[in-house]
Amino acid sequence: MVMSDTLTIRLKNSQSEDEGIVTLKVLLGSGNSQDLFERNEILYNFVNGRELIIAPSGIQTEIIKIIHEKGHFSVAKTEEVVKLEFFIPNLNNHAQQVIANCVPCILANRKSGKREGFLNPIPKDETPLHTYHVDFIGPLESTNKNYQHILMKTFGSPKRIITGRGSAFTSKVFNDYCAEEEIQHLQLATGVPRGNGQVERVHRTLIPVLTKLSLDESIKWYRHVDRLQRILNSTVSRSTKWTPFEILTGVQMRNKKDIKIRDLLMQELEQPYCDQRESMRQEVKRNILKIQAENKKTYNMKRKKAPEYQVGDLVAVQRTQFGGGLKLRPKFFGPYQITELKPRDRYTECKLMKSVQC
Ligand SMILES: [Zn+2]
Repeated sequence: MVMSDTLTIRLKNSQSEDEGIVTLKVLLGSGNSQDLFERNEILYNFVNGRELIIAPSGIQTEIIKIIHEKGHFSVAKTEEVVKLEFFIPNLNNHAQQVIANCVPCILANRKSGKREGFLNPIPKDETPLHTYHVDFIGPLESTNKNYQHILMKTFGSPKRIITGRGSAFTSKVFNDYCAEEEIQHLQLATGVPRGNGQVERVHRTLIPVLTKLSLDESIKWYRHVDRLQRILNSTVSRSTKWTPFEILTGVQMRNKKDIKIRDLLMQELEQPYCDQRESMRQEVKRNILKIQAENKKTYNMKRKKAPEYQVGDLVAVQRTQFGGGLKLRPKFFGPYQITELKPRDRYTECKLMKSVQC
């Protein structure tokens, strides 16, 4: 089924380059073997009533690939078809390897088993405002002021900014700004699972809230951004058990609703709050570490160790953000080629291969 004339010639040649097969042929010449025999200079193995060509190591991968690609079969099915004509030692492992690297199969999300990559929490620093996790929302419906994106900032420059690899953050303007402000800018490698998860989660809730607030005039969404930021900062967060504002300042945020009562209360409460602040921060840190440990545990239980890719390997990157209109796009980008290896399951600057056909 699989063999063609050119393949027969190549089989002959590569069998003569395979030391093991050459040795077998010599042994065969000096005595007789029940299972091995030679026909047209090609060595066969007689297994379970079938005459199988002993595939030389030089073309084993190609044979498995040709058979797999006849229908992008599973490992088991590929093995079954290979075994009809060829004898390949360690066939199961070899087939797994070939199929794990089949670009059309990867792009079609046909990988099975646990998902790859463990959660590596980003270490927290002791100092408030040390690190900002930043992500853009947008482009949103353009306003009459031509606003399209939201980047919230209130407290001056942090020591460190962690962002994804959106064009806004790879741009020269942004990087010049960071250099001027002496901010260390860390960019997460493409597709890192949950690398900027906290900020992305907040932003996912922002869009529906903004939409609801600006039902009457959707292009006037920018009018609600300040208020929304205030509500977010005075709302208790699940992972810290405090409001962001309290963690930062040690006091509760004054809000319009109950200013009078709050002012009176504040006079009484402000001093103890200042004293409390240090212990509060320590508790917050413990809470964050606890949640991170729990998240890591449950996350890693559902995951397996990420395979170690090498420079030159072809990979596909899973789409993690589904904006409006993106729902029907493929689940993976790619193929990309790995150009650099980094620690903790990360690989950077994967370059798009233009000539690969899927
Ligand atoms: Zn395939």
